[in-house]
Amino acid sequence: MTTFPLLGEPLAVDLANTAVRTRGREVDLIADDAGVADWLALHPVLGPVDGDRLRALRDAIREVFQATADTRSADPEAVRAVNAAAFRCLATLTSTSDGPVVEWGGGPLAVLARSAVEVVAAATLRGCANHDCVLFFAHGDDRRKFCDTKTCANRARQARHRERQSQS
Ligand SMILES: [Zn+2]
Repeated sequence: MTTFPLLGEPLAVDLANTAVRTRGREVDLIADDAGVADWLALHPVLGPVDGDRLRALRDAIREVFQATADTRSADPEAVRAVNAAAFRCLATLTSTSDGPVVEWGGGPLAVLARSAVEVVAAATLRGCANHDCVLFFAHGDDRRKFCDTKTCANRARQARHRERQSQS
């Protein structure tokens, strides 16, 4: 079973974070069918999806998110790919005895792309402040700088500590 970082972010952020950096090396957690199946099992709302198309959308979303975090223009191809998928997403309401529920139509890629558009619209997306970390997060207050307090924030604290010791 693949271990994925930072679950519980918006769907598109969870997808973007399937590309990670471990000890300076880029790792694709959904590089094979097993990884794709493990990731989809954690997001049962999506249903089955082709791995190649999922990875292609993930890479487009990562480019859009990185451009958002860096406040630079994004690769037009990536923007086009996200838009083409998001356009197919159709959210409708169904009335139930527990109140109206949203039904997401258009398929998993459409739902993920729509999520990416919503993340950008919410203007809360940031990249982890650890330069050796490639994760994004959208939750949290303005003070949040790191993806994770146990790993990246800790590493930054240790680095500052080492710096202080080497200066003294
Ligand atoms: Zn991080």
